[in-house]
Amino acid sequence: MQNLDLVKLTEQYGSPLFVYDATVIERQYNRLTNAFSQVDLKLHYACKALNNQAILKLMRSFGAGLDTVSIEEVHLGLKAGFTPEEIMYTPNGVSFEEIKQAVELGAQINIDNLVMLEKFGHEYGHSYPVCVRLNPHILAGGNHKISVGHIDSKFGVSIHQVRHLKRLIEAYNLHVNGVHMHTGSDILDIEAFLRGAELLMDIALDFPELEYIDFGSGFKVPYKPSDAETNIEELGEKMSALFADFCKQYGKQLTLVFEPGKYLVSQAGVFLASVNVVKQTTATVFAQINSGFNHFIRPMFYDAYHHITNASNPNGQPRIYTVTGYICETDTFGWDRSINEIREGDILCFNNAGAYVFTMASNYNSRIKPAEVLLVDGQAHLISRRQNIDDILATQVDVGNLFDKPVESI
Ligand SMILES: *Cc1c(COP(=O)(O)O)cnc(C)c1O
Repeated sequence: MQNLDLVKLTEQYGSPLFVYDATVIERQYNRLTNAFSQVDLKLHYACKALNNQAILKLMRSFGAGLDTVSIEEVHLGLKAGFTPEEIMYTPNGVSFEEIKQAVELGAQINIDNLVMLEKFGHEYGHSYPVCVRLNPHILAGGNHKISVGHIDSKFGVSIHQVRHLKRLIEAYNLHVNGVHMHTGSDILDIEAFLRGAELLMDIALDFPELEYIDFGSGFKVPYKPSDAETNIEELGEKMSALFADFCKQYGKQLTLVFEPGKYLVSQAGVFLASVNVVKQTTATVFAQINSGFNHFIRPMFYDAYHHITNASNPNGQPRIYTVTGYICETDTFGWDRSINEIREGDILCFNNAGAYVFTMASNYNSRIKPAEVLLVDGQAHLISRRQNIDDILATQVDVGNLFDKPVESI
């Protein structure tokens, strides 16, 4: 995307604005499927990363299934045209009622604790297949908030509980058709990932009715220009060999499943915002934009680095800026960044805004959410309109004249 085109899009659709490029999503999808061309691969797109219907339909057009973590996401998937069998429901800490709803909708169920598995067995016995999420306790992942495979993590059935798990499966004649792991985000260490995968495959040998093994996700994408990313081609080569050996030993060709979110959409998105104020203080120069952690929480929430450029002045003299928002709390997008000279009204461009940005946006400070635009073959399509004040009031109930009389004291 050229800077000028981005600036034009904000003129057309307003600022701030999210822009996603379908070409980049397709490139990432193909890169992953090419790296695993030697095995029977199925990708389930983790829709919590970016859940617009247009994005889900795009994924469906590639042949992807869907990974969902809530009953609401299952509904979104069905609405986008996925069949129930293509939807994997991988909740954590939900009620058994919600699991039953997902069964009624026909989704594939992934259970990650023994208590729920026992209830599931009691209710469905062998009649409805279930996948079990195991925790191999490998240390992978970028930071403590997104690394979910370690020993203290709330996710999955510990591999140290496998004997108990097997007893449950036998007692209830459970139909376990898949085993699963998901160790967190930002995996750079392929060897650590492969160790976890091997542990999972070892355990899988004891489950006779498997159709697939789901190795979760967590592929790292570059955020800084100098960042390393998961070497997908190397992972594909090594993992395919391990998986082929496993299938031979298991005596059946199984499907290898991944559930990428960030890998598919992170780099496909940019966030564009206008500079309201350039403020020189004694210590620094602040560039304040017409947004904040209400729209883009990752820098404040995860200390995530998002590269920032000046789309309006790509050839300006680089200077050092601290980029902040308009929220009445600290909301810094980046400290001491070298950015081409910023003038009031310039459009700043934030990279890697495709994953976990819009889906985490809120109406804090009663601010409306920006519009989202999807570029398909260079053509812009509005995929969600900018909110207005009525959207913020839409769920509030008018109390009428409740307070017209003085409220009686209590
Ligand atoms: C969030 C999540 C994913 C996607 O993780 P990414 O780092 O975005 O690829 C996959 N599987 C499960 C179960 C998840 O909760």
